[in-house]
Amino acid sequence: MKLSCRASLIKPSATLAITAKAKKLKSEGKNVVSFGAGEPDFDTPDYIKNAVKDALDKGQTKYTPVSGIDELKTAIAEKFSADYGVSYENSEIIVSCGGKHSLYNLFSAMLNEGDEIIIPSPYWVSYTEIIKLSGGVPVTVDTSKKNFKFNLELLKNGLTDKTRGVIINSPSNPTGVLMDEKDIIEIANFAKKRGLYIITDDIYEKIIFDGKKFSNVLTADKSMKEYTIAVNAVSKTYSMTGFRIGYTAGPKDLIAAMNNIQSQSTSNPTTFAQYGALAALKGGQEFSNMMRDEFQKRRDYMLYFFDKNIKGIVPVKPDGAFYLFVDISKISGINSSTEFCGYLLDKYLVAAVPGVEFGNDNFIRLSFATGLDVIKEGLSRIKEAVDSL
Ligand code: PMP
Ligand code: GLU
Repeated sequence: MKLSCRASLIKPSATLAITAKAKKLKSEGKNVVSFGAGEPDFDTPDYIKNAVKDALDKGQTKYTPVSGIDELKTAIAEKFSADYGVSYENSEIIVSCGGKHSLYNLFSAMLNEGDEIIIPSPYWVSYTEIIKLSGGVPVTVDTSKKNFKFNLELLKNGLTDKTRGVIINSPSNPTGVLMDEKDIIEIANFAKKRGLYIITDDIYEKIIFDGKKFSNVLTADKSMKEYTIAVNAVSKTYSMTGFRIGYTAGPKDLIAAMNNIQSQSTSNPTTFAQYGALAALKGGQEFSNMMRDEFQKRRDYMLYFFDKNIKGIVPVKPDGAFYLFVDISKISGINSSTEFCGYLLDKYLVAAVPGVEFGNDNFIRLSFATGLDVIKEGLSRIKEAVDSL
């Protein structure tokens, strides 16, 4: 049938597609090693599951206010105050159906046709598509020559009189690289002067290695609140990807517009999942610290393996998140990241995401949100694959 122009502008999520393909091959009995999935492999903690069971037993199965239950918004405000030192009222917060939905509502509420959003590249696959769906224009700026660290000079490369805002995702998906605080401060100062909005996607804020410190425009400068839209989710921090709970804090009028959009689309995020998110936010960081330490061990093993065993493939050292972005451009006989990932999957049953999907065709992304044994098996297959070229 004749589809809308918007629908035909959008490509499907490559990260989800590759994860689904790996799962399908596994269900057919193939011994696939998947470096595809961007979701923690740990089970959701029991105290969170029990909170959901309790909520169900207490009859929390009906609609809630569109923007979420008050207790959850208050817990989110407390989190922002504890982590960033910035106070929010409940009317400045909206809970949505996952971080992806938060971003969808945000750009639908914020952008007019032709409005531009600057995105440091490589970037998470959904940013460009969600912006296009909202009638906006994603403007990507390459960070690869600057060790994948976004800064003011790079921001200015993408700036036009149509620029409305900039996405900052640090640590980043797909590189895991953290921005330097001095660059965050320079960008904050510039944003205030120019009336630009900073969309800070802090979904990996609790997964940071080597004792490094998280910072964003709010921790750098409290007066940035007016120009900041903070997007987050419980998905990665508490291994709750299937709960679909994300949240946004920002200017009241923007949050009210997002609320209107949500009221005419999904209504409230799933009621009992909100109680799970409430337990997660109130339950401390012991679980996420444990996951972070495990992810760091896996990262260290992978860096060691590439260094010792696979010559000519150079990974970017991640400061956080659970992705290894690996430079494959020096491998002879390979012309694109899609070709290399196709070769890995077809011949060696290893699933990885081509870098071109994140805006850089010289790389592939390996998620290490999978057990060390699986990682070891996958890396030895990658070594064999490279050696056979
Ligand atoms: N932002 C980034 C950078 C991500 O990697 C993800 C992962 N899906 C999200 C937002 C959204 O996560 P979710 O919708 O699962 O909460
Ligand atoms: N963000 C994760 C990833 O990049 C999960 C899949 C998705 O939503 O894109 O793999």
